Amino acid sequence: MHGLVWRILPAAAPEFPARCSHCTHPSLACTGRFRVNSSAALYDIWLIYRCAACGRRWKRSIERRVSRDRLGSRLDGYRADDPHLVLRHAFAGVTPKSPLPYRVLHVPGSANPRPEAERKAPDTPGQAEAGPSATLELAGPDWVQVEQPFHCGVRWDRLLARELGWSRARIDELWRSGRIELAPERKLRARVRDGDRARIADLAAVDLAAVGPWMGDAGQVGETPKG
Ligand SMILES: [Zn+2]
Repeated sequence: MHGLVWRILPAAAPEFPARCSHCTHPSLACTGRFRVNSSAALYDIWLIYRCAACGRRWKRSIERRVSRDRLGSRLDGYRADDPHLVLRHAFAGVTPKSPLPYRVLHVPGSANPRPEAERKAPDTPGQAEAGPSATLELAGPDWVQVEQPFHCGVRWDRLLARELGWSRARIDELWRSGRIELAPERKLRARVRDGDRARIADLAAVDLAAVGPWMGDAGQVGETPKG
């Protein structure tokens, strides 16, 4: 046993921080749909947003005047509103201000860290801020490592409380007594980053199956975004 991986996945795309041109509402909600236009064998692709206040639609430009060859298999994804492509573009250049709804898959850890190239999701520009962590090796059964390809904005104390099924007061107490540690060094209320790890004393004795959704479970939704 080499600890656990908690894979945090967004259950919704982030809002785009732009004012509605019609009613000046301060952000636009992602519809999860693309619009694809072609003219003279060149394609324009947009991601469609909608104002939550007045319903006015807004198109965020993804590609302009590109050839089919350059789009490759992505063209089919855009036409089918592929959810992963939606997330990739919706997160690009956007850092959610408040935590997004999320789910967590619990995956048994491996002694072999993922290669750096796999971890970084280089085609996801919005993730640059999430930052890579120093070392990935899970040092034993008390370690949990986070994989978070899209930055959901969840805080460590809330994640731990939810995934372990413990109160935030208990998490605080274990933190103060050194029985929970974060690596690289972080505050308990810091936002979780891709590659972060936590050591939780006696984790192996915790009945996690009774608490969180395990791999394959479509899972609960986490914190609800405000406003
Ligand atoms: Zn509006």
